[in-house]
Amino acid sequence: MAHMHTLIEDLVAANRILANENVVDAFGHVSVRHPEDAGRYLMSRAKSPELVEADDIMEFTLEGAPIDSSVRKPYLERFIHGALYEARPDIQSVVHNHSRSVIPFGISGEKLQPVMHSCATIGHEVPVWDAQDTFGDTDLLVSDMSMGRDLAGTLGSGTCALMRGHGCTVAGRSIREAVYTAVYLEINAELQWKASRFGKLKFLSPGEIEKINSRLGQGKSGEGYDRSWEYWSHRVGIASMRR
Ligand SMILES: [Zn+2]
Repeated sequence: MAHMHTLIEDLVAANRILANENVVDAFGHVSVRHPEDAGRYLMSRAKSPELVEADDIMEFTLEGAPIDSSVRKPYLERFIHGALYEARPDIQSVVHNHSRSVIPFGISGEKLQPVMHSCATIGHEVPVWDAQDTFGDTDLLVSDMSMGRDLAGTLGSGTCALMRGHGCTVAGRSIREAVYTAVYLEINAELQWKASRFGKLKFLSPGEIEKINSRLGQGKSGEGYDRSWEYWSHRVGIASMRR
């Protein structure tokens, strides 16, 4: 159970970090797959991420049913998480957020692509999921598994998907990787928007993206991810050990 304790500590830290780095605000959430049961995941009860404590963490089936019988209210959009874990056995952590800079790319037809080496994990071109394509007029929130599975189809084998008029979803092979990609997705969107004033942009090539990502992922959990995790943890007052 020591591993579970550490994982919950990291999940709480991830909530605080994502809030501090302006990825989530009052809304948005992060989850991790259960370490001993691939058919379950862990996520906070419905609460602003900056305020999440270890006691808030709940366990869910991939269909989004809470395992415990408490009356704690889960996030409405938890189906995003279960549907991605169902579609992608390689994924261990999911972030969903509505950060400001990604929104313009989901509504304009302007493609979001990596502009800087630190942003290579977002992939060559971030796909856009539009709930209206399949479900017509909705409140845009992913409120059941059919919407979650549709979104997972758009994300495909990548790490990110934008959601038209809503936000984005990011997947990673670890909490640290998912947090890293979520932070740099927001940074990339801001930089791309600023640079676009100068005219035509030169994005990272697919070959550059591949080389950067293979270096980042080296080591036990990815040295590059550990270094940023240490830094972001320090900024929220959490002492972090490299693992
Ligand atoms: Zn949302």
